[in-house]
Amino acid sequence: MSTFRHHGRLLPILLLTVALGSASAQTHIVAPTPNKYSPADDVKLGQEAAQQVQKELPLLNDPSVEEYLAGIGQRLVRAIPSEYQHPEFRYTFRVVNQKEINAFALPGGPMFVNRGMIEAAHDEGEIAGVMAHELSHVLLRHGTAQATKATKYEIGALAGQVLGAIVGGTAGGIIAQGSNFGISTYFMKFSREYESQADILGVQLMARAGYNPQSMANMFRTLAQQSGGGPEWLSDHPNPGNREQRMLQEAKLLNATGNPYGNTPEFQRAQARLKGMSPAPTAKEIQQQTQRRQPTGTSGRAVNVDPPAGSYRTYQPSNGMRVAVPANWGPVQSAGNSVTYAPQGAYFSGDNGGSAFTHGVEVGVAQGTGDLQRDTNSLLRNFAQSNPDLQQSGRARNESVAGRSGITVDLANVSEVTGQPEYISLSTTELRNGGLLYVIGVAPRTEAGTYQDAFRRIRQNIQVADR
Ligand SMILES: [Zn+2]
Repeated sequence: MSTFRHHGRLLPILLLTVALGSASAQTHIVAPTPNKYSPADDVKLGQEAAQQVQKELPLLNDPSVEEYLAGIGQRLVRAIPSEYQHPEFRYTFRVVNQKEINAFALPGGPMFVNRGMIEAAHDEGEIAGVMAHELSHVLLRHGTAQATKATKYEIGALAGQVLGAIVGGTAGGIIAQGSNFGISTYFMKFSREYESQADILGVQLMARAGYNPQSMANMFRTLAQQSGGGPEWLSDHPNPGNREQRMLQEAKLLNATGNPYGNTPEFQRAQARLKGMSPAPTAKEIQQQTQRRQPTGTSGRAVNVDPPAGSYRTYQPSNGMRVAVPANWGPVQSAGNSVTYAPQGAYFSGDNGGSAFTHGVEVGVAQGTGDLQRDTNSLLRNFAQSNPDLQQSGRARNESVAGRSGITVDLANVSEVTGQPEYISLSTTELRNGGLLYVIGVAPRTEAGTYQDAFRRIRQNIQVADR
């Protein structure tokens, strides 16, 4: 539920140490600070996120292609300079059976490369180039450095804060899909400073592994030339400016432009093998399949719960926040940066990580930009992406939320649990630290009248001690 925006502040992170006349002249990259997480945290967060990814994205599971990709990965790992080595990191390389040209790596080592990326490459060096860039994000611990900046507002435990944002929360029929919802905003979308660091360290890894770093620049050109508004990878890894020139300049500093390794017979074999398979599904097709699975076997279920009690009970989901909900509701789920309150019988969890509630509220904090309108739209867009049935059913209105000015918008959806139309209200307001407080109320459309008052009372009376 976090829409990460990189901060405008530029850190002096590129230290140019070009020694004139030295053959080993290269740019020295320093991992960003502060990073409040330990390398062991990187591993833990990355492993948990990787498990989530494997639930939501189909792996190719073809031993020969996987082995080929892992071979490239290991070649790069062996080339990591000692200064960037973390003994606890565990590097794994998996192929996702997905058409879009994309790849991503998670903290502590797990890397996922889309089949579409391997198919689009012109030689092995191009694949290695993207992997070297991704590996550099991991080595420089960019994911947790970013999380250090982003999680200013704390609800829940350390791991939960980040993981909640990664795997997303759930609300009513709204099922947050990690594949295109949280992960991309948290561990895959980096600032231009981090991008520049990953480009330069990536070139250095390429050179040390015997690849011609020129092919890394070639791959970026290949990506930019793909039709359809630019592939996903480039939108997650924005061009820090003069990307190709900067990489070639670094390659020259390293005297690595003559490295021969690029078009290998193994590369030809892997591409031929992929050509022989049925086409990879698109992200959208994968998502539709995942949604049909979550939560398992509950769609069409009849749900009957007691109406909201007239008396209220106050909970404290985090230090500095108090939420009063009808006395017959309780907390049913806490997903890191959000908490859900629902009456008995309204909460469902599937066996594959999905969950949903038919009556109740989710209260959470997302990363904001200071522009309430824009942040609210961004949250809505994220919802709509993973909920094809979601529609705005009224005009957004200015209304008090948590004792300050806020926005409320009514939405219509189809419940994942009952298959019936449901009413959703989304309310947002800014916190002083830049966070976006949101409250999502969910009820079947036929019961909307019974719940609207409760939702209003809950959002207006939330107390946040941020000033
Ligand atoms: Zn990047």
